[in-house]
Amino acid sequence: MRKVQGNDTFQRINFLYQLSKEVVEKNPALSVYYDNLVINIAKKSVLKIHPDIKRQICKKCRCMLVDKKSSEIKLKTKNKLKFISLKCTVCGYERRFPADKNKDHRVWLEKPEAVVEIIT
Ligand SMILES: [Zn+2]
Repeated sequence: MRKVQGNDTFQRINFLYQLSKEVVEKNPALSVYYDNLVINIAKKSVLKIHPDIKRQICKKCRCMLVDKKSSEIKLKTKNKLKFISLKCTVCGYERRFPADKNKDHRVWLEKPEAVVEIIT
């Protein structure tokens, strides 16, 4: 196996992320603690967190957002624009993501060309 810079850190983030998801229903405060660790580790080692993971962390209270456990996901329409509303039930903070089917809303990291190499 090839050595990858920051691999240990990625493993740590992955582990904490999973832990946070597990505990969020029973103990949101603990989930916030784990998510804070994830963000701090990433910041310290100057790593980018995948947008999929980032979107699941509440921007305000940093709680893990799991549908029906700690968040409400709804499809809303405003001014003919469709968007997905993701509301944190812990602190009430709401995030909106555009959901226009005619446009590509994926960020660069989610597109196939962003993947340089898959490490196993
Ligand atoms: Zn929140």
